[in-house]
Amino acid sequence: MNLILLGAPGAGKGTQAEVICSALKIPAISTGNILREAVKNETKCGLEAKSYMESGQLVPDEVVIGILKDRIAQDDCKNGFILDGFPRTVPQAEALDKMGVNIDKVVEIFVPDETIKKRLSGRRVCEKCGNSYHVDFKPTKVDSVCDACGGKTVIRKDDEPQTVSDRLKVYHEKTAPLKDYYEKQGKLVTVVGQEEVSETSKLTLAAIEA
Ligand code: AMP
Repeated sequence: MNLILLGAPGAGKGTQAEVICSALKIPAISTGNILREAVKNETKCGLEAKSYMESGQLVPDEVVIGILKDRIAQDDCKNGFILDGFPRTVPQAEALDKMGVNIDKVVEIFVPDETIKKRLSGRRVCEKCGNSYHVDFKPTKVDSVCDACGGKTVIRKDDEPQTVSDRLKVYHEKTAPLKDYYEKQGKLVTVVGQEEVSETSKLTLAAIEA
């Protein structure tokens, strides 16, 4: 099964991608994570992507499409995959279609902007392993120390308030039109993000199985 998770930054796509990944045993592919790794390793593509990411803008389509194409060609994607954070523009969706990738379902996780702003201001990520936490909803056991690897948890540069507003603006302008795109293909299902992550997960799995 090939799935796409759609939603504003901070809507909880990453968490839902993990839930689906363990339920359906298919890999979750986050272009954001791939790009952050590339930035960390200072690869050519990482150097190109860095300034866009830090200012909350989208990385150019051709860069992200290339990354995605390489990733889904890998062996572990043979039985399907979940895309988290791709496509983010209509040309990216068209590129997927042109690659001959058949998407079974597109799950939109809907969360209002104001809730997202609150969520992202409390998000902390481990600078070593990338695990994600929240100061109120999912705190680390020891303050600022990652439960998984002992690394330091920090505020992601693009979670600063002004950047979050910019990212939401970009989402509404460039990514939200994808809802129409997939609605027309009869593939869009919308899940309203709940306060309890486990409740959202139940709704997401039900939406996929429906
Ligand atoms: P994310 O972790 O998915 O919020 O992605 C973090 C950042 O990576 C975004 O704000 C963009 O700058 C960049 N990015 C990730 N996926 C894409 C994409 N499909 N197209 C363009 N830029 C992307």
